[in-house]
Amino acid sequence: MKEQFAIGIDVGGSALKCGVVAKDGTLVHCFTEALIKTKGEAGIIEQIAGCIGQAAAAVQLKDGAVCGAGIGFPGIVENNVVIGGADNLPGFEQLPLGYLLETQTGYPTVVDNDANMMGVGEWVYGAAKGCTDIVFLTVGTGIGGALIINNRLYGGYRNRGTELGHIIIRHQGASCSCGSRGCFEAYASVTALISHYQSLKQEAGEPVDGRQLIERYLQKEAAAVTAMEQHFDHMAAGIAGYINIFSPQKIVVGGGISEAGGFYMQEVTERVGQLAMPATSLQTTLVAAALGNKAGLQGCAATVFQQQAGYDPVTVYNHSTN
Ligand SMILES: [Zn+2]
Repeated sequence: MKEQFAIGIDVGGSALKCGVVAKDGTLVHCFTEALIKTKGEAGIIEQIAGCIGQAAAAVQLKDGAVCGAGIGFPGIVENNVVIGGADNLPGFEQLPLGYLLETQTGYPTVVDNDANMMGVGEWVYGAAKGCTDIVFLTVGTGIGGALIINNRLYGGYRNRGTELGHIIIRHQGASCSCGSRGCFEAYASVTALISHYQSLKQEAGEPVDGRQLIERYLQKEAAAVTAMEQHFDHMAAGIAGYINIFSPQKIVVGGGISEAGGFYMQEVTERVGQLAMPATSLQTTLVAAALGNKAGLQGCAATVFQQQAGYDPVTVYNHSTN
């Protein structure tokens, strides 16, 4: 029998990341295309279908078989239908993207929210491999997340929930991208961190990115230390809440900042220890994500493989507890 591969596509606001993934999670082929938005929704769908075709050709070169394609899409996705909510991709409302791509390419296609796909990637192949209960966070411009509960991705009723960046940690607090105030994202995102840092600097300097800010923190620059310490506090506030609700085995933190070094997770972990209830946090460890910016592609592929195998979380769960 030919070796089975799944195609993963991560749709971002400006690029399409595409990959061919083997069953053990190995990314055997990967390419990125700038997203062509000028032709609107139809053009983007055509471009995604083109990428699936290109990835499938790479599988054929390896004499393998494609078992399907997984798409990570920003915004709300219910049952392979994009409901909407991706600000950087106008259109895409009530759009049966899975069905359209399946018809165009001939491959079974599954679509879910991009952060969900990243969380699945870390669960199946990454930092939370073998766990049944996970909270995944991706910290960047905003904060996205995914929940795995009892060996199953949980998205709330009709997949509308798990907006983990938008729990309110401060009543009437800072304005948030979602239109509300005081959200976790408005305090703990890299955007919030950088704007806090810049407000602490007396003179207006060159704009900094997260990486430069971390360097300045490690050099003990006063403003960077203050901004980072507050960032750790805010991260801990949100995470302690998730632990008290879900008591997960692992909290996986992704996004570039989680790769800053061991000190990052350590600082957050120490603060979480002071905030979360001892009983709920006893079994929880905080870990940095392991798959980097490929987590979405691997999660898309994992979802395809799960569907192909008729994944039954109950069986898996019973098996893992035996
Ligand atoms: Zn919000």
